[in-house]
Amino acid sequence: MCGIFGIFNHPEASNLTYLGLYALQHRGQESAGIVSSDGKGLHHYRQMGLVSEIFTRDTLKKLTGKNAIGHVRYSTAGSSELKNAQPFVVDYAKGGMAIAHNGNLTNASLIRSELESSGSIFQSNMDTEVIIHLIARSKEKIFAERTIHALRQVEGAYSLLFLTEKEMVAVRDPYGFRPLVLGQLKDAPIIASETCAFDLIGAQFIREIEPGELLLIDMDGIHSFKPFHQTRHAQCIFEFIYFARPDSFIFNRNVYEVRKSLGVQLAKESPADVEMVVPIPDSGFPATMGYATESKIPLELGLIRNHYVGRTFIEPEQSIRHFGVKIKLNPVKGLMEGKRIVTVDDSIVRATTSRKINKMFRNAGAKQVHVRISSPPITHPCFFGIDTPKRSELIASSHSVKEIQRYIGASSLHYLSLEGLRKCVKDEADQFCYACFTGDYCPPCALKI
Ligand code: AMP
Repeated sequence: MCGIFGIFNHPEASNLTYLGLYALQHRGQESAGIVSSDGKGLHHYRQMGLVSEIFTRDTLKKLTGKNAIGHVRYSTAGSSELKNAQPFVVDYAKGGMAIAHNGNLTNASLIRSELESSGSIFQSNMDTEVIIHLIARSKEKIFAERTIHALRQVEGAYSLLFLTEKEMVAVRDPYGFRPLVLGQLKDAPIIASETCAFDLIGAQFIREIEPGELLLIDMDGIHSFKPFHQTRHAQCIFEFIYFARPDSFIFNRNVYEVRKSLGVQLAKESPADVEMVVPIPDSGFPATMGYATESKIPLELGLIRNHYVGRTFIEPEQSIRHFGVKIKLNPVKGLMEGKRIVTVDDSIVRATTSRKINKMFRNAGAKQVHVRISSPPITHPCFFGIDTPKRSELIASSHSVKEIQRYIGASSLHYLSLEGLRKCVKDEADQFCYACFTGDYCPPCALKI
């Protein structure tokens, strides 16, 4: 769960990267960083916190040069501390190099032990650092070739940006787990996790980086390579369900449209005899629109969100998370007094949110609270970069839908079916990873289960 952004050959490189990271803040709120290059050396600044808290006019001024990459982080591998903040920057025999990674490597610990036993010293406990070591050890002459040599040894999910003094390299793993898009601002190429970053800075979306594609961007232009083995694609379906911003275009689709169609499909599969449909803010909104439109039941904004509180899930401790739901959401009193309502949310993970919210609705006078979820039950953890907890903490891994319904205090509970979910991505349904719902992981991860 991270966001990456890079721009090449633009006089405002670090300012634009700052803005790009702002648009990608939903992908990670723990730390952020920018590395710039002025053709001679790399300049960097990384801190814990939100983009708006970290960078000032002064820090940005020091990030000189026409090329820059940036990163916002939410840890899925390695602890949440400054030494693990990205982009990661090193000086090695061939010069400076910075890396920004979205994804999770599944064989990093194995590679790391091998490297350590032959003398490598690591500075962080992040999976990403093994890539740097592998690049530094590669005997290839050109940076892009050293990168390919390194990446052929790693497995798992990676959308990556590299910056050296002279070039920027963007890569998406052969499965295409995480999104990565190419844009342009005047003549400057831009790479970002999602297109919403282009919209903010007025850049034009060109195309997606294809799974298994490497782009080398230098003063001669953009050079595309397909250096990896061809395999089935496994784009993360959870990007559509929850993670990506609804105004982004990724995986060949508009996120909002997919999310809304999940709600339409959910209404077809699991109607409810109620007087109003209430979205769970904010991630439940698009699916609720779809549900309300399809079922022709009035939509009411019955739950109001305090926008000055971050996503509840981000708090690392369970105790804080309980508090988080209350501080963030409040029902509109009077609206649901004596009424039958259906609420739509995108997912249930531990069921903390749903349980709290349903209690709030009951306290606000709702007579019946039906719950509809626009994804199937999450039964398996993700090893590819979405922060889902261990299996034991995923309520659907050990409880039936009826048991979960009782636990969250719902009058009825229905999830979207896997078939229904696949229908919403139509003819490309086989290009996605559904492992969090099925346990059917792609081969590289089979070792870990
Ligand atoms: P929970 O209370 O643990 O069941 O969390 C469910 C809520 O968290 C839902 O409202 C989702 O919108 C949101 N959510 C689902 N997956 C994630 C995730 N990986 N990170 C942060 N929030 C999530």
